[in-house]
Amino acid sequence: MQPRHEVFPQVIELNYQARRRLGCCVYLVFDADEWLLIDIGYQDTLNEIIDLIRDMDFLLSGCKYLVATHADVDHVQGMKKAKEMMPQAKLVGHRQAGALMAVGERIQTYSQISAQGIDIDMPAVAFDETIDEGDTLTVGNLTLDVWHTPGHAPAQLAFRMRNLLFSGDNIYRDGCVGNIDAHHGSDIPAFIESLTRIQHSDVEWLLPSHGPIFRKNDTHLQETIDRLERYSHRADFGTCAVDWPLLDQWDLELADGFDPAKA
Ligand SMILES: [Zn+2]
Repeated sequence: MQPRHEVFPQVIELNYQARRRLGCCVYLVFDADEWLLIDIGYQDTLNEIIDLIRDMDFLLSGCKYLVATHADVDHVQGMKKAKEMMPQAKLVGHRQAGALMAVGERIQTYSQISAQGIDIDMPAVAFDETIDEGDTLTVGNLTLDVWHTPGHAPAQLAFRMRNLLFSGDNIYRDGCVGNIDAHHGSDIPAFIESLTRIQHSDVEWLLPSHGPIFRKNDTHLQETIDRLERYSHRADFGTCAVDWPLLDQWDLELADGFDPAKA
């Protein structure tokens, strides 16, 4: 048996538990004999994660929920097998993620990026229930509030428990955010709203889906919000940008005609 390395009371993160990087962050929240998992990662690491959980003396039959923060393959590829190993656990997430996972959708989940030669399995699996803003998940006497925080993906969820926010792909410790990509349904104005909500909340710790856990810092969040605000007016972000001010400038200049002497 392995000691439980709780990152906060009743919260274990499996990369921290393993003392090495397995993949995306996988959070185990427990009270008494009941527990849940937030994300599961790739299929390749599933057996190791299950062994770690067993070694900490959790019964697989105590798993109440398998929670998908969203449907990206690096977060949920192992869900089908996890559900087979723990059939009593309810697989839950946002309805949009459920729609993608039910059919093993490949483009919006990043399991297929043809231009980069990425082509990996996305096993189809059905949600038992969908969850959304305002819902709660309970394990034992613990309650997690469900936050819908779209931006990176339409289905992105975050979960608040006490002064902790399991913050998904909203923001990482270095101020980076989850990939902004039109084909993924990313939405920069929605992203800014989600980050502003996190900034204005009295949450003290952010437990992201990638990289280290970190203390919420409002100045740091504002820098990221300001950066996304700039993104929303940049051609770099294509159809994810809301406008491109240079085109308005061009309209004015077209009316005047081009003059190399003034350019
Ligand atoms: Zn991610």
